[in-house]
Amino acid sequence: MEEFDLIVVGGGAAGYFGAIACAETRPGSRVVILEATPRVLTKVKISGGGRCNVTHHQFETKRLVASYPRGHKELIGAFHRFQPRDTVAWFADHGVELKVEPDGRMFPITDSSQTIIDCLERTAHDNGVEVRLRTLVQRIEKVDEHFLVHTKEGTVLRSRFLLLATGSMPFGQNLARDLGHRLVDPVPSLFTFEIKDPLLEGLSGTSFPRVHIQLKVAEAAQDFQQEGPCLITHWGLSGPAVLKLSAFAARELFASHYKAQVQINWEHPLKFEAALQQLETLRQQYPKKRVSNENPFSCTRRFWEALLRESGVQPAQLYAETGKKNLQDIARRLTGTILTVEGKGVFKEEFVTAGGVSREEIDFRRMESKVCPGLFLSGEVLDVDGITGGFNFQNAWTGSWLAAQAIAQSLNS
Ligand SMILES: Cc1cc2nc3c(=O)[nH]c(=O)nc-3n(C[C@H](O)[C@H](O)[C@H](O)COP(=O)(O)OP(=O)(O)OC[C@H]3O[C@@H](n4cnc5c(N)ncnc54)[C@H](O)[C@@H]3O)c2cc1C
Repeated sequence: MEEFDLIVVGGGAAGYFGAIACAETRPGSRVVILEATPRVLTKVKISGGGRCNVTHHQFETKRLVASYPRGHKELIGAFHRFQPRDTVAWFADHGVELKVEPDGRMFPITDSSQTIIDCLERTAHDNGVEVRLRTLVQRIEKVDEHFLVHTKEGTVLRSRFLLLATGSMPFGQNLARDLGHRLVDPVPSLFTFEIKDPLLEGLSGTSFPRVHIQLKVAEAAQDFQQEGPCLITHWGLSGPAVLKLSAFAARELFASHYKAQVQINWEHPLKFEAALQQLETLRQQYPKKRVSNENPFSCTRRFWEALLRESGVQPAQLYAETGKKNLQDIARRLTGTILTVEGKGVFKEEFVTAGGVSREEIDFRRMESKVCPGLFLSGEVLDVDGITGGFNFQNAWTGSWLAAQAIAQSLNS
C-alpha cells in the first residue's frame, strides 16, 4: 500500500490548485492527484469560450459574495483570506498576467486557457506533485486516522488527509455521501431562456445595454429580478441579466420544468409614463413624420420597427395618424413586454451545477468536513456556485487554497 501526505481526488481546477498550494506551503510533501479520465483540467480548457475567465475584478468581499446564489454567507470569511486579488497575485507570481475586461471578467493576457493549464501543470510538476491519469477512485474508507482510497484498477492508497475535488459528477459526490455527507440534489445553473414570440422574430443578435427583467415562476414563493445587458438570440434571450436570473432561480425553474413568465423593460430605468410622454411630445412636434423614422429611444432601429409592428403601427404611418392607444401600446411594450419562457437553452461559455455536498457540514475556515475529520472538499463538489464571470473558478481557487493551508499546518504539527 502506497502512503501519501495528501491524496487529491479529481484533476480539475480545484484539485490542481489544492495539490500545488499544499506542496508549495510544505515543500517535500508527498502529494498525488488521482484523475479518472485520460486528461486533466478539461473544464479549464473549454472555459470562457477557450479563454478561461479565471476570476472577477471584484475585490470587495461584500459585493463579491453577492455573486454566489448558493454559498454567499459561508464564503464571506473564506474570501477574507483568499480572494480575487490573491488569485491575480498568485498567477502573476507564477508567470501568468491577467487582464480585466470592461465588465470585470479577468482573463490571461494571451486570451488562451492553455496558458492557465500550462501554468498549473508546470507548477505541480516543479513542486513534485504526482499526477495519475485513468485512475478512477471507486471507494474511500476511513480506518482509524487514515483514509484508504480504492481505485478501479485495484490499487489502494493511504493518507491522513484527503482533498475531494471531483466537481459536479454524481459518482464523485457519492464518495462524499458514503463518508457520511448529505447531498443537495443537482440542478443546472447558468442557462439561457427559450422564448418563441413574434416580437423577437428576426432580431437575433440585437443587444440591450441595460434591461430590467422580472421573472415569475408558478408556485415560487417570490419573483426574481435582475438588471444588466441582454441579448436576443435565435432561440430566445441570453446575456448577463438572463444568466443571473437563471442562477438565482435555478431550483424554482427546474421545478417548473423551465416554464415561466418574464416582464422586460428594454429601456431600464425609463418608466411607462415617461416613455409615453416622450412619444406624445414627438407627435405634437412632428405630426407629418413617419413613426418608424422617429425613434426617441436608444433601442436599435430593427427593434423599434418590431415594437411598432407588434403594437399595430403600419410601416408608413405618420405620428398624426397614431392615436393615444397606439402610443400607450408602444410605451407598454418598451417598458414591460411580457414573454413566456418555454424551456432552457445552453450558454456555451460557462455552465455549472447547483447542488452538491451540503454546506452545513463544512467548516469554511478550513474547508474541512465536520462529519469526517481529515476530509477536505473544494470546488463544484460542494453546494456552492456563482453567476457567470469568473466566480466559479474563484470558488475553486479559494476553497483549495484554504484547504491546503489547513492540511499543511496539520502535517507540520
Ligand atoms: C463550458 C464551461 C465553461 C466554463 N467557463 C468558466 C469560466 O470561464 N469561468 C469560471 O469561473 N467558471 C467556468 N466554468 C465553471 C468551472 O469550469 C467549474 O466551476 C470548475 O471547473 C470546477 O472545478 P472543479 O475542479 O471543482 O471540478 P471539475 O473541473 O469538474 O474537475 C473534477 C475532476 O474530477 C474528476 N473526477 C470525478 N470523479 C472522480 C473519481 N471518482 N475519481 C477520479 N477522478 C474523478 C473529473 O474527471 C474531473 O476531471 C465553466 C464550465 C463549463 C462547463
